[in-house]
Amino acid sequence: MKATLTKALHVPGGAPLFQRMFTRLGCDGRPPRFRVEFYPYSSLVLTIRRREELILVRFSDLLRRAPLPVLEAAAALLLARVYRRRAPAPLVEPYLEYARSGRTRSRMNRMRHKRVRPRHTGARGLHFDLEKLFEELNERYFAGELEKPHIGWSTRGWRRQFGCYDPGPNQILLNRRLDHPRVPQCAVEYVLYHEMLHVKHPTRRSGCGLVSHSQEFREEEKRFAEFDRARRILDRLAR
Ligand SMILES: [Zn+2]
Repeated sequence: MKATLTKALHVPGGAPLFQRMFTRLGCDGRPPRFRVEFYPYSSLVLTIRRREELILVRFSDLLRRAPLPVLEAAAALLLARVYRRRAPAPLVEPYLEYARSGRTRSRMNRMRHKRVRPRHTGARGLHFDLEKLFEELNERYFAGELEKPHIGWSTRGWRRQFGCYDPGPNQILLNRRLDHPRVPQCAVEYVLYHEMLHVKHPTRRSGCGLVSHSQEFREEEKRFAEFDRARRILDRLAR
């Protein structure tokens, strides 16, 4: 946790929000005065201090764009702590949910910075130039609008997969075994096209799982001109 010396920001509607939650939790007595601020914490830290009739609350400014139910949930958690009340789970859930996803996001960002891109042998193989194929596919299927990730051939031949896209280093790698004169170009193009769709359709959460090949993804994949032929070739290669 790190706090810089930037001035705290008043939270518009913060005091009435706390008064509402004070009532909703059934806290005893007359509600105190609340002063609610956003404070530049670098993590989702919430603090509350009680000074006689004044309660000072600091929300992390990471919550500045949070929807109202998240702020209400955060208020309920803080008040429950100070007044030793149990905050009903449905009331605090939006905040917990938000904190979880926020943590996940920042963890991902940290990883993003730390991670070193796996090495590859460059995009130009002995037989296929992936940069060139990327440009052609991009024109043909994405109206030239897909942002180009790093692209390369794997340094070693893989057993189990033909290609992969890693959103961390934003890199597509193709299995170098495909860089071979006996592999028809349409098969290489299809694998690259599939990975390009991963760039376009990021993996998203659904229920408790992750969806990387959504319905949309699968539909769009079938637009590949030689879809059936390419799949047959790859099936043969996989054996
Ligand atoms: Zn895939």
